[in-house]
Amino acid sequence: MDQNVQWFYEKRAESVIEVLKKNRMQGIYLADAAQVAPTVLSLIPQGASVAMGGSMTMVETGVVEALRQGPLRLIDRYEPGISPAETMARLKQGLGADVFVSGVNAVTEEGELVFVDATCNRVAPILFGPDKVILIAGCNKIVPNLAYAQERIRHFVAPTNARRIGRKTPCAVSGHCEDCSSPERICNATVVIHKQARPERLTVILVGTELGY
Ligand code: SF4
Repeated sequence: MDQNVQWFYEKRAESVIEVLKKNRMQGIYLADAAQVAPTVLSLIPQGASVAMGGSMTMVETGVVEALRQGPLRLIDRYEPGISPAETMARLKQGLGADVFVSGVNAVTEEGELVFVDATCNRVAPILFGPDKVILIAGCNKIVPNLAYAQERIRHFVAPTNARRIGRKTPCAVSGHCEDCSSPERICNATVVIHKQARPERLTVILVGTELGY
């Protein structure tokens, strides 16, 4: 990566980590995406039950594979060959996991975390349930404020993800949000985490590169 961009990402991450601390969340900056998977594993107690949210960032950084091989009990919603009923059962088990690992759609410079979700199986355990939540984001997801976060989600995150997973939504064709009423709409809930009650519960890993959508 260009050294000036790397410097910029590091400076932005440093200031976001400061405000996250004020919002009773922990932040970690990693310059190199190769550091992400070992760092995630180091934060998980041995033998803990772990669930994960759908995330291209987790795939790109090798976290999904690392969780499959780690000394933990993974509730693997993506295990090949499982039935839709078993997938749903595992999504529900995720609500009671010890640890939940996921991406995040936007991180504001005011230390807020913003998510969009279709069925809410991702945001529900982030909000309540698991005692530890680990979120991973490339510094490309840092935005100035909530208005920019909404803009990013509606006009980039949702259309690209809708297309990636083959949803029949207007944005997956045009690339623009049309605030649709499609039954396959993926932006059914927008969730903002402003602060946490317990400072040790939520950790955000910011990575000094572009990751995910
Ligand atoms: S509301 Fe509909 S059209 Fe807009 S981004 Fe979401 S899924 Fe796409």
